[in-house]
Amino acid sequence: MKKIINQAVEKGKKFTMLGKVADYIPELGNVDPDLVGICITDMEGNQYCGGDYNKYFTIQSISKVVSLILALEDNCKDYVFKHVGVSPTAESFNSITQLETKNEHKPMNPFINSGAIVTLSMVNGIDYEQKFNRIKRMMEKMINRDGVEINSSVYQSERLTGNRNRALAYYMQSTKVFNEDVEKILDVYFRICSFKVNCIDISNMAATLSNGGVSVYTGERIISKETVKIINVIMSSCGLYEGSGKFALDVGVPSKSGVGGGIVSIVPGKLGIGVFGPSLDLNGNSIAGIKMLEYVNNKLELSIY
Ligand code: GLN
Repeated sequence: MKKIINQAVEKGKKFTMLGKVADYIPELGNVDPDLVGICITDMEGNQYCGGDYNKYFTIQSISKVVSLILALEDNCKDYVFKHVGVSPTAESFNSITQLETKNEHKPMNPFINSGAIVTLSMVNGIDYEQKFNRIKRMMEKMINRDGVEINSSVYQSERLTGNRNRALAYYMQSTKVFNEDVEKILDVYFRICSFKVNCIDISNMAATLSNGGVSVYTGERIISKETVKIINVIMSSCGLYEGSGKFALDVGVPSKSGVGGGIVSIVPGKLGIGVFGPSLDLNGNSIAGIKMLEYVNNKLELSIY
């Protein structure tokens, strides 16, 4: 395993120069594009790590998985998917156009920005603070450590410049897709996107899902089986935005990316993989991350298809 990890890191490093760090959130533009890390957790809790696996980055869209988990645990499946679709999209993750043309204005799926904002509205909480705290707590259980912190400069940077997300949210408010205090719900969204994690954390998060919702460390059930199944389905079809089809072909396991450069990968019943590389392709997915996953999954024959 050690050898495969090292080779995966070497492979990943060769691709970083082909992409670009996200800089539409100005603070993300300051991250070193050449970082590359990986961590693999098995169902006994053993871990195998390589490269910059302990470097922290912001979780960004991987947080959408946690929002969806809670929305599904708090409501029935039909209620959730009455408000957000389950269709893959050929548009970018922050697309506005599809809100106007498809599905009675409802967002295409929970993993694009509009869909994630609607999903957040379905997470229970007496106020926005409680919503935030419940998501944080679920995140901490999945990654198996307390005290997850926010990267405050990334949070502030996105809060100040996130007008595209504001446009999406106000548009959805106007079409009655939801009825929320838009600034407050966006503040929760920006905060959960700014959680600081490393490859160990997101590998643990993946392992919880690979283990059917049960912690590989404590044996505690954290997420229901039904919810895990739905998460895997939507990750498979929508987890890498418009890159999801190609990713299924090349890697073949349910995964979710974020513009911070992380990707969580679920190998059901076997492994939870977390990779990191902030240099992104045109779809906003980690270039080195995809190459590392492709390498490891080919070597270990992990594709579910
Ligand atoms: N916070 C980011 C945004 O809303 C998350 C996007 C992503 O990771 N794809 O733009």
